[in-house]
Amino acid sequence: MFSLKFYTGLFRRFRSLVLRRKVEITGQCKGCGRCCENILLKDGGRWLTSKRKFRKLCEREPEHARFDIVGKDDTGPLVFSCSKLGDDNFCTCYESRLPLCKNYPSKSLYYQGDWLRADCGFSFKVTTFRDIYMRRKRSEIPPFSEVLHQKIEQEKK
Ligand code: SF4
Ligand code: SF4
Repeated sequence: MFSLKFYTGLFRRFRSLVLRRKVEITGQCKGCGRCCENILLKDGGRWLTSKRKFRKLCEREPEHARFDIVGKDDTGPLVFSCSKLGDDNFCTCYESRLPLCKNYPSKSLYYQGDWLRADCGFSFKVTTFRDIYMRRKRSEIPPFSEVLHQKIEQEKK
């Protein structure tokens, strides 16, 4: 069964394609460290859903051993926290952090139907169908100077 995240991602990809507008990432990191506490990991494009799969990933790519399983997401994937997160909420291996950390938050997260935490310093900036509708509507209204000019010309006649 498909999750809300799946359908959200599908809708976002569809909207982006139709409107020809891609999501933008705005803002900056506030250094709260919260995104290092509830992490979902992928291997070969699939979410890690079992300890066995996680063990296999660690055997192949030992740098992933820094993650500890802390639970399971409602939709199935395992949830991890990172042992490299310091008590001050800063990364203790900032220079050698993984690509997934360097790229966070990536545009692909948005297109997978994910949300950022409300208190994250970053946000997704998108163009919606309503934005386009309102822009078109506004462009149908002639500028005030044009209306005034037309009125003056009419009065002259
Ligand atoms: S949750 Fe957002 S603001 Fe906090 S550390 Fe992660 S990227 Fe930075
Ligand atoms: S390596 Fe650093 S940036 Fe990456 S999840 Fe761990 S604490 Fe966060």
